[in-house]
Parts: sequence; structure tokens; C-alpha cells
Amino acid sequence: MREMVWIVEDEPDIRELEKTALEESGFLCLGFPTAYDFMRAFQATNQKPQVIVLDIMLPDRSGLDLIRWIREKNPSIGILCVSARGDEMDRVIGLDLGADDYLPKPFSPREMVSRVRAILRRHSAPPAPSSLLQWEGICLDTSRFHVTVDGEEVSLTATEFRLLAILVENPGQVFSRENLIERLWNNEKAIMDRTIDVHIKHLREKLKNYGSCLQTLRGIGYKLDNPQRPR
Ligand code: CA
Repeated sequence: MREMVWIVEDEPDIRELEKTALEESGFLCLGFPTAYDFMRAFQATNQKPQVIVLDIMLPDRSGLDLIRWIREKNPSIGILCVSARGDEMDRVIGLDLGADDYLPKPFSPREMVSRVRAILRRHSAPPAPSSLLQWEGICLDTSRFHVTVDGEEVSLTATEFRLLAILVENPGQVFSRENLIERLWNNEKAIMDRTIDVHIKHLREKLKNYGSCLQTLRGIGYKLDNPQRPR
């Protein structure tokens, strides 16, 4: 069966370029110039695409909004977002909202096709067996992306979840920001240290009583450990 890729891109030249490259690589392809056209088609069909190539800068709606909309409807469709802005926040927010990958413009059609293929490979991998991680009262079910703190469900973003999973798997181990960036984003050079700080701050708030266990080692990094109690 041929896989279907949808393109949401308002610039006709780029849309055509992407469409041609994908079709030449064997994909079925549909292109939409606006978020509205895309959403209408998406809701009208049962033949959902496997991957959506999504421009962040659209005339009628932010592509970031659209990522959120797609994820609410369908958590498993691959999303490759593209942006001319090369904006760090776009990238971080896009990935945080659930995009699978991010490609700054201008890019070669070949690069775009290989990113789409990579997303499909990841999505077709067999689901990981249910795996439970626990540290003190913090429990993570990595197959369901489910977290509880002292038995109460906590809602985390995908990035917060992955960050917490790394820390809970390795309690007491110190991770530098660079190390965390490498694990979370494959060492994307454009991700800045303060991105990690923001995620850590959000996690601390969500971990309630355990927030203080997420410790900062000034100038070194972070670790999950019981705070030293003064004797
Ligand atoms: Ca655009």
C-alpha cells in the first residue's frame, strides 16, 4: 500500500516542489494552501495521511495551533513541521506540541523526503512493551505516556515526559544540560541551554512534593535525588 502524505503550505512553488518530490518517491500526495482547507479535508475523510508536512507560517492560522489540533484528533499521525523563520521558539514549541521533526527553510526536497521516511520508520516500529519506571512516589508508564505522582495523574508534555523518564531511570546521576539536549533532541545545535531550564521549571511545578528532588547543581546540571537534609 502506498503511504499518503499531506502538505499544508501557502506558497504554491514550495507546495508543488514538495508534492513532486514526494510523488517521485512513491508517496500519494495532497496539498493544501490554508489551514482551513486542510482541516476541512481532514475531517471529511477516513483516509487519513500517515505524515503531514506542515508549514508553521500560514495565512489563516498558526501552524503551531494546527499541530495541537491534529494531535487532539489523532496522536499517531507523523508531523514534519517546516518554517522559514528558523526560530528557536517555533522549533521548541513545535516539538513540544507533538511534531515529530522540524526542518528549517530553505531545504532540499530530497532532505524533506528523507525526513518523512524517517518519521514513517519510527512510527512503524513495533510498540514498546509496557514499561514502568518508578522513583519514590513518581510512576511513569512509558508505553502509555502516563505519569502519576503519589497516585495522582499528572499531565506532562511529550518533552517533559521524556526528560522525567531519563531522570527517574537514573536517580542520583547528574546530567549536564548538553547531555540532556543530546538525549532529548539528538544534539540539535539550535536548542539552547535555557530550553532545558524551562522544561525543568515546569516539571518541578508539576511534581508537587517531589519538585525539590529535581535538583540544580549550579554550573553542572541537574539530578533527581532526595534533598540533603541538614543534621
Ligand atoms: Ca508560509
